[in-house]
Amino acid sequence: MLPNAGSDGTTTDCQRYRVYHRDLRPEGPVLYWMHRNLRARDNWGLIHAREEALQRRTPVLVAFCLAPVFLEATLRHYDFLLKGLEETSAALKKANIPILVRVGEPESEIHRLIDLVQPGLIVTDFDPLRIKQKWLQSLIRRPMGPVHEVDGRNIIPCWVASDHREFMARTIRPKIRRLLPRFLTPFPDMRPHPYTWDGYQPDLDFTCFSGLMCADNRVPPVASVRPGETAAAHVLAEFLDRRLNVYEQRNDPNREVCSNLSPYLHYGMISAQRIALEIRSRGYAGENVDSFLEELVVRRELADNFCLYCQEYDSEIGFPEWARQSLDRHLADRRPFLYADEVFEQGTTHDRLWNAAQRQMLETGKMHGYMRMYWAKKILEWTETPTEALRIAIRLNDRYSLDGRDSNGYAGIAWSIGGLHDRGWSERPVFGKVRYMNDRGMARKFDIEKYIRTWTSG
Ligand SMILES: Cc1cc2nc3c(=O)[nH]c(=O)nc-3n(C[C@H](O)[C@H](O)[C@H](O)COP(=O)(O)OP(=O)(O)OC[C@H]3O[C@@H](n4cnc5c(N)ncnc54)[C@H](O)[C@@H]3O)c2cc1C
Repeated sequence: MLPNAGSDGTTTDCQRYRVYHRDLRPEGPVLYWMHRNLRARDNWGLIHAREEALQRRTPVLVAFCLAPVFLEATLRHYDFLLKGLEETSAALKKANIPILVRVGEPESEIHRLIDLVQPGLIVTDFDPLRIKQKWLQSLIRRPMGPVHEVDGRNIIPCWVASDHREFMARTIRPKIRRLLPRFLTPFPDMRPHPYTWDGYQPDLDFTCFSGLMCADNRVPPVASVRPGETAAAHVLAEFLDRRLNVYEQRNDPNREVCSNLSPYLHYGMISAQRIALEIRSRGYAGENVDSFLEELVVRRELADNFCLYCQEYDSEIGFPEWARQSLDRHLADRRPFLYADEVFEQGTTHDRLWNAAQRQMLETGKMHGYMRMYWAKKILEWTETPTEALRIAIRLNDRYSLDGRDSNGYAGIAWSIGGLHDRGWSERPVFGKVRYMNDRGMARKFDIEKYIRTWTSG
């Protein structure tokens, strides 16, 4: 799947960013508002901000606004984020790029920072989630200078890959393949920035930030998953050295085969483009590599496409028409079990396999990808309506998974419950034509008793 390396390509391609208020030309430093890609390395947003600052002969600064409440984020997520951010801020400091961190509602905090810094250009991360689109709109509505929105998450910028909602992996895949040679380019080195900011730079105490959050501390941090760019690079190296060559066996939840990179990718502590470049530079190819890149590039970029072009990604409106109609026809079907939120949350349903998956997520902040499908589909089967199922699945995923609150999660849940990016299957109760899964099918694929033993006491 990967094209060969080109000889050029170290500069920011103009299509990696979109421009708002091009005509305004105030003087001042370049301010990069980092909110999706929390890294100093391999970050197109930061690279672009720095290149612009070099051309303008001005300093470049990074702004980070820490929202005290963010979707379902808990202490688990804030702890991961803040420790990662501390490492990134040290790396930025070495590059002569100060970072200004503000705690508060990002929409207003960013304006306070803009008033303080008086930038000549604002660069910001692209993110299709509604809350982030709202942040962007608030930035654009009060023009104080040009704004450049950079897609540093996807290899092919989301709006370049496609200008409309894609309905299946097979419709976006050829577009991605065609564009990869243009966008899968090496990252430039980050040398120290030559222009120094001499304005206000408070000392940052990251341990005190967590005290300012309103995070729910009933969900504790996961000690076994170390946050930050260095940890992400280690996890990648370990995966490439030991497990990529057996990735085809990823659907066995008893085996450690997957990369475990999703928490790092979610917080932007590692770049998907760096992962693809690393695979190419090692000369790896074959079925395992193709399967991995299908997930890392095609499925992942399809998820962002879904959220960008369907802002109702977390409601039934996001389901394809055939699935919505089919689920509607089965609304009155008798459900075999009906559970309250707490039963799902505590993992105390009648189904030991489901409970084991829930326990894995509660304890480790990550559920195996194959179990995630089964888990979400059973929530559909055991609740009164697909709306209720969506609400519960999204809440639990966002609250307990380290990689939650991500376009991949909204797409994965809509795939499981609402047939997103899938086709219709033979009709059956409750599910209608949405693909069904059961424990007998799972037992044919892997040792479910072993999985249950691992994640529950019996
Ligand atoms: C119900 C449900 C909920 C999900 N919730 C999330 C979520 O909150 N956050 C999240 O990142 N992923 C989610 N996924 C997608 C997928 O299950 C996870 O990305 C994967 O399990 C993460 O583990 P890994 O990094 O070891 O994956 P690997 O198999 O090693 O894959 C590498 C990377 O590819 C991407 N990827 C893999 N599978 C998919 C997929 N199906 N769709 C989009 N991208 C993919 C991820 O970024 C992943 O980190 C969900 C899937 C389902 C069915």
